[in-house]
Amino acid sequence: MNAIYDAVVVGSGPSGAAAAKRLTGEGLRVLVLEKKKLPRYKICSGIIFKKSQEITERYFGRIPDAVYVQPKLLKGVRFWSDLGNYSDWPFSKDSEGAPNVWRSEYDYWLISNSGAEVMDCAVFKGFETEGNAVVVHYYDARENKIRQAKCRYLISAEGSVSCIRAMLSPAFERNVKWFIAYQNYYEGQSSLDPYFYHGFLDQKYGEVYAWFSVKDDLQVFGTSVIKGAKILPCLNAFHEMLEKEHGLALKKLVRKTSCLGNTMCASGNFSLGKGNILLVGEAAGFLNAFGEGISCALSSGLFAAEAICACIKSGEDVISAYTELTKKERRQTSVSWKLGAKIAGRDLMPL
Ligand SMILES: Cc1cc2nc3c(=O)[nH]c(=O)nc-3n(C[C@H](O)[C@H](O)[C@H](O)COP(=O)(O)OP(=O)(O)OC[C@H]3O[C@@H](n4cnc5c(N)ncnc54)[C@H](O)[C@@H]3O)c2cc1C
Repeated sequence: MNAIYDAVVVGSGPSGAAAAKRLTGEGLRVLVLEKKKLPRYKICSGIIFKKSQEITERYFGRIPDAVYVQPKLLKGVRFWSDLGNYSDWPFSKDSEGAPNVWRSEYDYWLISNSGAEVMDCAVFKGFETEGNAVVVHYYDARENKIRQAKCRYLISAEGSVSCIRAMLSPAFERNVKWFIAYQNYYEGQSSLDPYFYHGFLDQKYGEVYAWFSVKDDLQVFGTSVIKGAKILPCLNAFHEMLEKEHGLALKKLVRKTSCLGNTMCASGNFSLGKGNILLVGEAAGFLNAFGEGISCALSSGLFAAEAICACIKSGEDVISAYTELTKKERRQTSVSWKLGAKIAGRDLMPL
């Protein structure tokens, strides 16, 4: 056994970074395992909503300039109907706009400032309990070795697809449903206002929805459907419409990406953990409507850490404490999907 930690966090996204930051702030020893090489790419529009910005600034400080892309601040979301009409939803009335960032850089800055020991190229493989402790097994790809780390608490911050959630409750996992998101990055141009994030609600462009934004000199667009539905016809229809209606002219393909997302959020089916193993962020089901997930990733990470700190002192059950602390956040996530359905005039996650 290499070392003993108060907590091992699997995943270096915003939920893992927030949990790690709060725990190390209490003087606890934390190891973060990240399977990818850091800074890692994350499929995302990279918009830091007001709540995410506030949490970030409170716990990590001002977002550094190097993390931003152009345009640096976005005014709001422009939702387009199938008739080509739009309505604008400002990100906030009392601020200059929402930071537009590269997730690779923002997440790397967060985790580098979390105070935790961070190991990248380290893939979580499994765990077993040993008395009150958890022994975590991971693959150290740099050394090509399986290693172990012992901890009092294990936190899954693995994102939507969580091995730990599946290991904790195979029955729960069998009922998890998924959506698929595609996102393409091209050099090129369009007539869409780059100071807005554009959402397209017509289902022919994506059963969930489709989006467009500008990041540096790249035209970024994507769509999402429930797993099992055909995504390419939607993406092609969306692409054609952007060309015809919004002057999209693509030059060079820079990146093509896709990911799986769980739909736990839309059905209010959260999975918070068991024993001394806690799930945070998308692993637990925290994702708001239209795919805004950084704010609830950060806050659930902080709540998990707060529950751990309280329970170390009081000896009470950590999952009960975490469940209580996340009550409001879970309700807000569920409400956001209802609000999203109102805006779209339909269910955004037709399950
Ligand atoms: C297309 C798209 C656009 C989005 N745009 C926005 C947006 O503009 N604003 C916003 O607020 N949200 C957005 N989101 C949502 C946001 O990206 C997520 O909700 C957020 O990243 C969740 O954070 P997390 O910490 O839970 O997980 P993640 O950020 O997904 O991090 C999980 C980490 O765990 C690592 N990991 C997984 N398994 C293992 C393992 N076995 N061992 C070691 N490491 C592991 C992964 O490599 C990853 O680094 C978007 C999502 C999508 C799909």
